Amino acid sequence: MGSDTGKAIERIVIVGGGTAGWMAAAALSRISGKEGAGKGGRKSPVAIELVESEAIGTVGVGEATIPPFVDFNTLLDIDEREMLSAVQGTFKLGIQFVNWGNLGDSYIHPFGNYGYEVDGVSFHHLWHRNRMRGDKRPIQVFNLETMAAHFGKFARTEDYKRDDMPPMNYAYHIDAGAYARFLRAYAEKRGVTRREGRVAEVRRDGESGDVAALVLEDGSTIAGDLFVDCSGFRGLLIEQALETGYEEWTHWLPCDRAVALPCKRDDGSPPPPFTRATAHRAGWQWQVPLQHRNGNGHVYASAHMEDAEAHDILVANMAGKPTADPNFLRFVTGRRRKFWNHNVVALGLAAGFMEPLESTSIHLINTGINKLVALLSLDGITETQRSAFNRLTNKEYERIRDFLILHYHATARDDSEFWNYCRTMSVPDSLTEKMELFRANGQIFREDDELFTETSWAAVMMGQGIAMGGHNVMAHGIADQGVAKEVDGIEQSIRFLVEHMPGHGEYLQRYCPAPPA
Ligand SMILES: Cc1cc2nc3c(=O)[nH]c(=O)nc-3n(C[C@H](O)[C@H](O)[C@H](O)COP(=O)(O)OP(=O)(O)OC[C@H]3O[C@@H](n4cnc5c(N)ncnc54)[C@H](O)[C@@H]3O)c2cc1C
Repeated sequence: MGSDTGKAIERIVIVGGGTAGWMAAAALSRISGKEGAGKGGRKSPVAIELVESEAIGTVGVGEATIPPFVDFNTLLDIDEREMLSAVQGTFKLGIQFVNWGNLGDSYIHPFGNYGYEVDGVSFHHLWHRNRMRGDKRPIQVFNLETMAAHFGKFARTEDYKRDDMPPMNYAYHIDAGAYARFLRAYAEKRGVTRREGRVAEVRRDGESGDVAALVLEDGSTIAGDLFVDCSGFRGLLIEQALETGYEEWTHWLPCDRAVALPCKRDDGSPPPPFTRATAHRAGWQWQVPLQHRNGNGHVYASAHMEDAEAHDILVANMAGKPTADPNFLRFVTGRRRKFWNHNVVALGLAAGFMEPLESTSIHLINTGINKLVALLSLDGITETQRSAFNRLTNKEYERIRDFLILHYHATARDDSEFWNYCRTMSVPDSLTEKMELFRANGQIFREDDELFTETSWAAVMMGQGIAMGGHNVMAHGIADQGVAKEVDGIEQSIRFLVEHMPGHGEYLQRYCPAPPA
């Protein structure tokens, strides 16, 4: 809750120096020290302060991203080569899912589209139509990112300078600690001040209930007008101080533990340009390839697996020897009941956590910052701003939640109690409708500006074993000859491009080599 403050925003305080804290600091540094263009010609510079505690540390995971993250860095004028080199970064074209629909299955959820629309009809409908008429080509050959990932190739659209070829959509794999350090240097250079210390007390205004100041362990105080809570799972301000409440989604997303463990690539192979998510008996394992190592982790449900077994499965399925001690993490899937409460905006793990399965957490930090910056008025905080922020964020969470549940629910796996639970659990009505429409005739409606595209939904539905029972009736009206020409042209362009691309490892060495770790 909280009413309109009518109090000018002159001091913004960020609590936490993990990925969320430094992303927020870097973005907000664009207004740091600038004079607020407030009502009546008010001129007051905005001070931005970030407090973090080295003793508490950060969660230390979160290394796979999705394409809007590239835009976040571009908007901050960050040089891609410099950043990737500083964070041992690699390119990511999608996620490979192994053993999800059934044991032995494998598919890629790519970042780009399958083919392109013909006369307003999405490509997967045309593909299905042709398949019904005997064309045996799998849909994957019509997607550039899938084919490049399959052959371990990479190039950026700018490299091939051909407007007639499909663009390459990509994201990054990053070393999370190095990325936070990179953004810290960026933000401090632009006027953000950093305070080291543990917040011991949160003081609230007796009248409004807003957060007024933080008291550090050494007794010093930090006052603020707007607070950004990036304190991780504990939600120091949003939960511990404001008691906002948490909506749990464990019944749909039952994994609640993870063990993370980096390793070398013992065979010296180049990093593949994709994340791998391999399903196990009671959860799944990630492999995130960086230039100098792989990030690995096993996400599992404690109701079905002990920590020791999860650790052993992880170690048995890594590409090399561990380079650190295992990091065991606990979480509860769900979201805060409000993301902006009083004068506190929660970002990152303080706002909620669903699953690392589709690398959506850093993305939600990014969109949270975008919404905050778009709504922010330096004249004060209003209930209208808060409720817009909360409504929009809530929708984003729910759409992503449904997409994640799909991976667990649409499976034929019956080899463990965990998969039997997931396969037979009831799911949100919004997801049931999506699956039924796709089964009927491949229709996918994107709702509420949702993140995942038609290709994303189609790739995961088909990859998980949901077959299209038909296709859009408009596909029948498109002349056979025209469709054949378009479809063949797409496949040939993709084959030509991939054949002429360098290997991903070679590309990294040329474009953004990282110094030895
Ligand atoms: C197992 C797992 C895998 C993940 N994988 C991915 C992925 O592949 N892709 C992705 O997008 N996301 C992933 N995530 C999510 C991602 O890790 C987080 O979104 C991201 O790291 C942001 O974390 P954070 O900054 O919110 O919290 P944290 O990293 O926990 O940082 C919290 C900060 O708050 C500070 N702090 C806390 N309390 C106090 C206090 N009292 N006083 C002072 N400072 C304090 C800490 O010192 C720290 O600086 C994953 C998460 C988990 C759990």
